[in-house]
Amino acid sequence: MSKSFFLIWICCFGFVTADVIAGNQKSHVHGLVTLTLVLEKKTLAIKIESPAESLLGFEHKARQSSEKQAVKRAEKLLNSPELLFSIEGVNCKPKKSKVELSHFIDSEVHHHHGAHHEIRENHLKGHNEVSHSEISHSEISASYFFNCDSEENLEVVSVRLFKFFPRIEKVNAMWVTDLGQGAALLSSRKNTIPLK
Ligand SMILES: [Zn+2]
Repeated sequence: MSKSFFLIWICCFGFVTADVIAGNQKSHVHGLVTLTLVLEKKTLAIKIESPAESLLGFEHKARQSSEKQAVKRAEKLLNSPELLFSIEGVNCKPKKSKVELSHFIDSEVHHHHGAHHEIRENHLKGHNEVSHSEISHSEISASYFFNCDSEENLEVVSVRLFKFFPRIEKVNAMWVTDLGQGAALLSSRKNTIPLK
């Protein structure tokens, strides 16, 4: 049961990331983050999916320097699993993180190409089409893998996202371990996933 869940989770992750980069829209609720936790053997995998608004304060490409700074801050924090999660019961070390934020900052070359494209789009389709894409929703996902000493003694994982990203109001957490599965809606007051 848990194994098939794990495989589905791994298989679909690339698809979801590609979806975000392609700029496809998914409906989401600002302030609500989804978290999936899987403990398989001694590997703990955590994946979060968040509206970009809840991590950055906006969902378009960063243009102003303050927006670019917000992307850099989020990138740094999201690449710090030891700050975002507190694991009790077993000793787990971060092994790998995967955070994709590059689509919020245009490279210079890309920007020039985009500008031409945008002007053409304006001529072809009118301004409405372009401004619509400017306000479209976008999401950020991050995956973390930890190596743990044991697969049996994991007790609690505390989620500290609320502390670093105050726009996050709730985290919808779902988990699967060899001992069972469960779900909980976390908040800054109740930020622990009880695994035992
Ligand atoms: Zn949104």
